[in-house]
Amino acid sequence: MAEAAIEIRDLVKEYAGSGDEPPKLALKGVSFDVPEGSVFGLLGPNGAGKSTLINIMAGLVNKTGGQVKIWGHDIDTDHRNAKLNIGIVPQEIVFDPFFTPFEVLENQGGFYGISKALRRSEELLKAVRLADKRNAYARTLSGGMKRRLLIAKAMVHSPPILVLDEPTAGVDVELRKQLWDLVNDLNAEGVTVVLTTHYLEEAEELCEQIAIINHGELIANKPTRELVGMMGEKIVAVTVDADIGDLPSDPRFHKCEKVGDRVMEITFDKGETTAGQVLAQVQEQGFVIDDVSTREADLEDVFVQLTSQDDAQQ
Ligand code: ADP
Ligand code: MG
Repeated sequence: MAEAAIEIRDLVKEYAGSGDEPPKLALKGVSFDVPEGSVFGLLGPNGAGKSTLINIMAGLVNKTGGQVKIWGHDIDTDHRNAKLNIGIVPQEIVFDPFFTPFEVLENQGGFYGISKALRRSEELLKAVRLADKRNAYARTLSGGMKRRLLIAKAMVHSPPILVLDEPTAGVDVELRKQLWDLVNDLNAEGVTVVLTTHYLEEAEELCEQIAIINHGELIANKPTRELVGMMGEKIVAVTVDADIGDLPSDPRFHKCEKVGDRVMEITFDKGETTAGQVLAQVQEQGFVIDDVSTREADLEDVFVQLTSQDDAQQ
């Protein structure tokens, strides 16, 4: 395993309540490492605690307990070096509307104490394809352009780690692709990228490793391929010749669901049985099969399975 770019240990965050609001335990002791050089996905539904975790790394939220090391530097005892080694694009877009993209990057360079000669504003504008917007006011940029500018801003001090909190929430397909390309380009240059998302497809497409967080707890942390293959499940969709009343049942069916008047989906384990045996069971129980299709479990199936197990334990 590669060195850890980020080490998170037993991270706890409790938000104080206010008025009628009780205190909220947003992170319940989360531990994981982000391997150096990876594109790492932090996946979870809304309210899972993703932004809380990112904002603790960014120094925007104070943790209640636990430890965070960025590039080997503890955020409590070596705050300065921790900060120098990470660039963070928060979920909320905030800008001074009267600065131009070039000025935004120059100001940020100044903030990090980078001398004018060493600033990379032009190069960064090119990298995020905003060179032609160099002198436009930030308020005239589209949402997608603003997000790209924020990525450039986070890279001003050339940190080895870039963290993106929901970079593609609410953006169109075209822009999503552009952002994915940008992430891949940066990673190819050696930048470790952490991104949070609630889009499973995005995590599956971009990330080598995925941690899943739900209700402030880490419920999985695995290479994407392993996670997808984890269940070893296969799903067969069966269309029958008449409306379905009672569904067929068999101990080898992990799940059998009606998904249309005449369509059912049966989930089974590839190691236990085969699609042929599943179909034979369906026929034996009186159904006449019109059509069949099969698919492997994807990340969405795994996610639903993992999060429902988690809910059942609570
Ligand atoms: P995510 O980014 O995964 O959607 P968040 O980290 O934003 O999740 O939120 C995790 C939980 O903490 C949610 O229940 C949210 O309501 C709560 N929370 C987030 N920020 C605050 C805050 N400033 N004060 C109180 N509760 C908060
Ligand atoms: Mg969030």
